[in-house]
Amino acid sequence: MVFKEYDYDNQPIVEIVNEIMADAVKNRASDIHFDPTPDKLKVRFRIDGDLVDYAYVPNAFKKNMTTRIKIISGMNITESRLPQDGAIKTELEGKPLDMRVSALPIVDGEKVVIRILDYSTSLQGIDNIGFSDVNLEKVKRMLEVPNGIILTTGATGSGKSTTTYAMLQRLNTPELNVITVEDPVEMKIEGLNQVQVMAEIGLTFAAALRSILRQDPDVIMIGEIRDNETARIAVRSAITGHLVVSTIHTNNTLNTIERLTDMDIERYLLGTALVGLISQRLAKKLCPKCRGSRPATEYEKLVIKKAINLDIDNLYTPVGCDDCLGGYRGRVPIHEVCEIDQDIKDAITNSTPKEQLRKLVYGNNKTISLLQDGLKKVVNGLTSFEEILRVIDIETDFGDGDEELRMALLGKLPTKKQESEEDNTSQENNNNQNEEITQPSSDIKEPEKTTEPEIKSQPKIDPNNPDFEIPTEDKLSFNQSDVNFGEEMSYDDFGDDYLDDDY
Ligand SMILES: [Zn+2]
Repeated sequence: MVFKEYDYDNQPIVEIVNEIMADAVKNRASDIHFDPTPDKLKVRFRIDGDLVDYAYVPNAFKKNMTTRIKIISGMNITESRLPQDGAIKTELEGKPLDMRVSALPIVDGEKVVIRILDYSTSLQGIDNIGFSDVNLEKVKRMLEVPNGIILTTGATGSGKSTTTYAMLQRLNTPELNVITVEDPVEMKIEGLNQVQVMAEIGLTFAAALRSILRQDPDVIMIGEIRDNETARIAVRSAITGHLVVSTIHTNNTLNTIERLTDMDIERYLLGTALVGLISQRLAKKLCPKCRGSRPATEYEKLVIKKAINLDIDNLYTPVGCDDCLGGYRGRVPIHEVCEIDQDIKDAITNSTPKEQLRKLVYGNNKTISLLQDGLKKVVNGLTSFEEILRVIDIETDFGDGDEELRMALLGKLPTKKQESEEDNTSQENNNNQNEEITQPSSDIKEPEKTTEPEIKSQPKIDPNNPDFEIPTEDKLSFNQSDVNFGEEMSYDDFGDDYLDDDY
């Protein structure tokens, strides 16, 4: 991405704002930030999770620019002391382009953030959102189960909602009554009955769920399990013959089970209800056009050997070209997909200690851990070793049984661990997961583009506002041939922030 110098004295502010938005879409940004500072307005794009400076607007034009954005997003331009929300809805190459806008007064002025909502990823379906073949089969099996709970877990921005919606797409058939409870509903999907939570009038997740059960549902999607009551209703719905799909803010399979058992649910009901747990992270994707290769360090060789029992000499590495940012372009999900079999169900019911549960989950290669899935994607050149270290939580993702691997990961000085490398040649748990591995080659599977179903969205725009004006394509002056909107898996997760309180 290029830092842009505008001619603020001669170019109309309307045009500049349109160009900023067009550039943001071209660069696959998920957000545009307008940060007031004492001497300028700093415009930044969030691309693949990181903020990048895009332009500096001189103070003399700061107010005009902020006002222009507030006008097109339907905000009150006379109010600058209170936070406001707005929306911009337009089209680009016939595809809907929805933006959610937030203005917040800070000491140096008003900070405006535009979120660009990208629905394209979740609408590609579960076949195309980055599951490995083994994990994809597991997820498909889970979705065949008529009743039970499937949970996708991860932090904000881990792409868990994208995955949840992709699963719902698969369940969205005329034979099934699918009802969702969301907070808020922003992406309307044809065929689903979507309920908007309104806590202020008493329509909480729990209240909505109680009514939904009288609506003859087959599949119930709960935006997020946040409290005990919602968790209890989810479990009861599951054991009375419904398939419940939801998300929860936890790290991995074991943490999720631990969290659920802390939620005041009878253990035997939980054990009966759980069908599958999908834990997820997002790592930056290596740019396929410029990625290079470098010799692996002893430390990297050790970690890869211990985690996925593979001997490697070289690793892909980010380089950087005109098409990417520092060698990365887009993001790739890292998964841990655990099918809850009878042994795990019994362990949950019987309050089996965590380390024993760990063996049941990961033993005999039953579940490929986040680290293993991530490292396979490293070896296949989808992401880098550094990215995996960044997204995997060494403190919580490893237990007593993995002490060796954990120490290998923590002990970044290879000399420290080389001795024990010789000592520990037994690899009882981590063998034979190499079926998908291809050592550095350019043969990387790209998700295929699928046709997108029609999306109807609800802009939060006040049409009665006389200042309101939807920018037309002409006004936005997109160079449409340059824009790759939705063409590749950008994985800028649109949903997590709706389901979390953070935004
Ligand atoms: Zn590149």
